[in-house]
Amino acid sequence: MMQLGALFAFLLGLAFGSFLNVVLTRLPEGGSIVHPASHCRNCTHTLAWWENIPLLSWLLLKGRCRQCHTRISPRYPLIELAIAILWIAVWLRFGTPLYEPQLFAGIPYALTHCLVLLLGFALFSWLLVLLAALDMEHLWLPDILTLPGIAVGFTYALLRNGTDWYFDNPITTAQMARNRLIAIVAAAGIILLIRLAYWLIRRQEGMGLGDAKLMAMLGAWLGFICALETFVLAIFAASIAAILWLAFTAIRRETTPAPWAKMPLPFGTFLCLAALPEIFYPQWLWLWYARVFLP
Ligand SMILES: [Zn+2]
Repeated sequence: MMQLGALFAFLLGLAFGSFLNVVLTRLPEGGSIVHPASHCRNCTHTLAWWENIPLLSWLLLKGRCRQCHTRISPRYPLIELAIAILWIAVWLRFGTPLYEPQLFAGIPYALTHCLVLLLGFALFSWLLVLLAALDMEHLWLPDILTLPGIAVGFTYALLRNGTDWYFDNPITTAQMARNRLIAIVAAAGIILLIRLAYWLIRRQEGMGLGDAKLMAMLGAWLGFICALETFVLAIFAASIAAILWLAFTAIRRETTPAPWAKMPLPFGTFLCLAALPEIFYPQWLWLWYARVFLP
C-alpha cells in the first residue's frame, strides 16, 4: 500500500509537473493555458502523444525537437521530476494513516484528516515550485497566484486545525483564524519594512511587493514562525548566491560588472525553495539551533 501509493504519487506528480511547465510557459505570455495543443516553441510543430509524455519524451527525443532539432530546455524534465519527488515525500510524510490505519483511529479518521494534509501540501508544493520558476525566469510573482494562494492557505489552516494528527495541542478555529491573520500581516510586514528602509536610504525600490504577497502566502500556509525561518534561510542563501555571482564575474573579468546592489536577484525563488522543508519539518531551523546551541 505504501509503495503503491508512492508510485501513484510519482506518476501523478509527473503529470502535474508537466502541467506546471505549461502554466510556466503560457502565463507570462498572457495566452490560454489549454489552447492551442502542446507544440514546439520554435517551429510550432504540434507534439504527438508520445512526444508529450513527462520525463520520458525528453529523454527519448534527447532534449531536441523532432522536426526542427531545436534544443528543448532541461527545465521541462527537471520540473516534472521535482514535483514527482515532492509528491512522493508528501505521501510518505502525511499518508501514514492511510497505509497504517490501525495506528490511528481507523479508516474514517484516516480518510478525512489525511486527505486534507495530502491534497493541501501537494497543492502548496506545486505552487511553490511554480512561483520559484516564474521569479527565476521572469522576476515575476503574479498576483493571480499569490493572492488566491493566501486565501487557500488560510482556509487550509482552518480545515487542518483540530483534525491534524501532527498538532499536539489543537486550538479552536477562532484562535487558529486569529493566529494565521496575524501571520499573514506580520510576514508581509517584514518585507514592507525592509522596502521602506531601503527607500529611505537609497530612494529607490528594494524588495518588490510580489515578495511581500509571497511572504503573506507563506504565513497563511505555514504560520508566522515557519515563514520567519523561511525568510532567514532565503536571505542566507541569496547572500551566498550573490557572493558566488560576484566572485564568478570577477574571475571572468567582465568589463561591466553590475553594481552588486542592483543585481536583479530573484528573491522569491529563494523564499519558495526555503519554504519547502517547512512542509515536512515545521520549525526545523529553530529545533536544530536549539538542539545544537542551547544547553
Ligand atoms: Zn521544433
